[in-house]
Amino acid sequence: MVTLEYLVQYAKQTGYIFQGSEIYGGLANTWDYGPLGSLLKRNIKEAWLKRFLREGPNIVGLDSSILLNSLVWQASGHIAGFSDPLIENKTSNQRYRADKLILEHDPNANPDKMTMDEMYDYIIKNNIKDPVSGTTDWLPIRKFNMMFKTHQGVVEDTASEVYLRPETAQGIFINFKNLIRTTRKKIPFGVAQIGKAFRNEITPGNFIFRTREFEQMELEFFCKPGTELQWFDYYLNEMKRFLFDLGIDKDLIRAEPHAVESLAHYSNATTDIEFKYPWGFDELWGLASRTAFDLTQHQNLSKEDMSYLDPETNERYIPYVVEPSVGVERLLLVFLLNGLSEETLENGETRQLLKLHPALAPYKAAILPLVKKEHGEKAQEIYDMLRKEFDVVYDETQNIGKRYRRQDAVGTPFCITVDHQTMIDQTVTVRYRDSMEQERLHISQLENFIRRAIKF
Ligand code: ATP
Repeated sequence: MVTLEYLVQYAKQTGYIFQGSEIYGGLANTWDYGPLGSLLKRNIKEAWLKRFLREGPNIVGLDSSILLNSLVWQASGHIAGFSDPLIENKTSNQRYRADKLILEHDPNANPDKMTMDEMYDYIIKNNIKDPVSGTTDWLPIRKFNMMFKTHQGVVEDTASEVYLRPETAQGIFINFKNLIRTTRKKIPFGVAQIGKAFRNEITPGNFIFRTREFEQMELEFFCKPGTELQWFDYYLNEMKRFLFDLGIDKDLIRAEPHAVESLAHYSNATTDIEFKYPWGFDELWGLASRTAFDLTQHQNLSKEDMSYLDPETNERYIPYVVEPSVGVERLLLVFLLNGLSEETLENGETRQLLKLHPALAPYKAAILPLVKKEHGEKAQEIYDMLRKEFDVVYDETQNIGKRYRRQDAVGTPFCITVDHQTMIDQTVTVRYRDSMEQERLHISQLENFIRRAIKF
């Protein structure tokens, strides 16, 4: 696997990802997705919607707002509890998440079960040093709420305070009654949503792994109490199937169930799917069985009835919820790390290769005239035909070998070359990115060829 530094450079050079606000010296931990990055992001979201919404068991979509009534965050527990334990070193003035410092010291420690005082004692007793100053000059740990606060309207008083949502899920819970009423869905059913979320993380970093602004893809699956663990298993399998079908190496993935003693108070099962990043295994995708916690909290504070009347048994209950939740950028990072390599060819040359499933590849094909003067017009015609349905790219600069390399490096699965033969019999050369093998296809076969290749 390439290093993170290599990937950052690669992403910048190819147009996948640029540093945010670069011309002004940057804004720490913000990133802009370039022509290729924005297409890859879109394709990841499309793939998720296909599997988790369209093909899922009884799923509908939602697009709820980022700004919500602050009572939502009171009910959900975010105002009181969406905080990380922050510890500051007096010598370096650096701030860290105390739980992460402890886990870096001993991966088997369990900071989730420690109070803030216990974490502090642990850090002192184990002589954990600030990586910057090398001292143990620690200030007491305090809670740091990670929600971004802003003001709505022209007056900046406490009544106008609103938060940017730190997760998309609550937008689904507060619409539960609307969703039931308008879709007439019967339980079990689910609601899928993609949208921006904001968290004022204490220690963002590792490129796009942890940022303060990111996009989440969340599914809240509502089911009958007692059936939630079956659905939990179902979704754990679906998450893995999604990753493996899209080409993630099985050896780079593991499922880590949270120990019972470290589960959040509202959860009766939580498992993280982890990926082996350059710094080791870390979270990619969370799966949580959240019981009736969120709907009950909203029922209590809003006084709206969130119960469901089962038409078959006439039972009334508050549904249980199973939630798979993943960040778009984190998945994008994983697809890049999984796919990018430098390969030595038989002739001793190296080529940069990004293996992406054709469904995810920003460009499905590159259309290349072998000789611009002779084949340019025909190639342009094919390009115009294909771009009606697919994201494709046209390239006529430099020799054909260089053009192939350029496409290999950004993940384009097929190069379609127009040459002398094309002028005679309307066939083109199709070159495969991974094997570099070539075959001839008739122009009329191209659309179907690509359509088949992007299926998963
Ligand atoms: P952590 O404990 O690492 O801070 P978390 O367990 O709080 O993360 P969740 O609330 O479960 O994360 O978020 C669900 C998913 O959203 C994560 O698995 C990850 O893919 C994504 N995600 C969460 N926080 C961030 C972030 N700051 N930047 C990018 N993606 C994130």
